[in-house]
Amino acid sequence: MSRKLTAAVWALLLLLTVSLSGCGGNAADAPDSASSEEGGALQAETLPGVPEPYVILDPTVMPEDGVRDGVTYVPYDGVVEHLFFHPVVAYPELAFDGDGQENGIDDFMVTAGEFQKILLSVYQRGYILVDIGDVWREDKNDAGEAVMVRNTLYIPEGKKPLIFSYDDTNYYPYMLENGFTYKLVLGEDGKVWSSGLDPQGNEVVSRDLDAIPILDRFVEEHPDFSPFGAKACLSLTGYQGILGYRTQTDTKSWTEEQEANRQKEVEAVKPIVAELKRTGWTFGSHTWGHIHLGGSSMGKIRSDTERWLEEVGSIVGPTKILFYPHGERPDGDDWKQTGETFRYLQGKGFRVFCSVGVESFSCIKKDICAVICDRLHPDGTTLRSKYVDKRYGRFYDVREIIDLDARPQREVGWQ
Ligand SMILES: [Zn+2]
Repeated sequence: MSRKLTAAVWALLLLLTVSLSGCGGNAADAPDSASSEEGGALQAETLPGVPEPYVILDPTVMPEDGVRDGVTYVPYDGVVEHLFFHPVVAYPELAFDGDGQENGIDDFMVTAGEFQKILLSVYQRGYILVDIGDVWREDKNDAGEAVMVRNTLYIPEGKKPLIFSYDDTNYYPYMLENGFTYKLVLGEDGKVWSSGLDPQGNEVVSRDLDAIPILDRFVEEHPDFSPFGAKACLSLTGYQGILGYRTQTDTKSWTEEQEANRQKEVEAVKPIVAELKRTGWTFGSHTWGHIHLGGSSMGKIRSDTERWLEEVGSIVGPTKILFYPHGERPDGDDWKQTGETFRYLQGKGFRVFCSVGVESFSCIKKDICAVICDRLHPDGTTLRSKYVDKRYGRFYDVREIIDLDARPQREVGWQ
């Protein structure tokens, strides 16, 4: 209920933003028709349109009489699978050009084409998206202590719930040179598009080259893939800004001019954050500095967390979701013990702590109000792995996904 309300408030805010921006308003940011090569023509010098209504529903509530839009809903208490992605490669020829970044990108990313095939495969295999924030809730136990509780989800009969999260959707400068899109922008249709440069240096505004607009489009075309309106949770650091906007501070030098520029970036990203939230995207912390939560001092962890809240949380709003950078668990093993780092982070409001693993493992902690949740990672390491069928075979047949022509000539462990 509250999420529906939030969506309505955001929609209203967005309307206000659009109307207040007045003549010419966002025209400078609006994609230019001349540079739009993909995904339909855009007209320059028009204000962003008022977007179509977008409905977000609560999967913890059974629809009246168990049926919605002719679909029967059933309770689900089984495993909620969780796949996470990094930004996807828009131009493999730039990503896989033999430079020092090539193997890292091959290991940890998928291409836009591979991502689209993965989407189609999980959709065809009966997965539906749910928001990570709906899977567990905070409640009280018999002793009156706060605990996390797994929600029963009410989902279309025969379907399987799936969480998506995207890490590092910051558009780091190193990525810009290596075949990724540069930033998110709002099109004059009011929707989220990506903007960037193709290998020839031409500006390209598209909905086919970046995992965020690609998923938006996929859900537009296959609304039953997201019956509750959920998209993915975006895991943000802060040290190079967010979503392609340089909203970060720098402690080495800080002038009035830098601050003024930062404020401009903050204002520019706000309508994009609002539109993402309105259309089912949520946000989590990936720490400000992508720090090692296992090995950093408490002082560093505290100042990093405060800085994330000031520079990122202030823009995207409160979140209970934390994604461990490098998948590194705090205090040794976070699901067997609860150490000082974990307690501190929990005290800052985080309740769902996500690592990386070989299955969608989750564990509600008994001694503190928190849940640990591992994620699977479709990327070059797992696409090439000899275990891919065992660990990812329920989501896709790797032979239909991996683009061996685009990727560097490295070994695959399967036949
Ligand atoms: Zn990361």
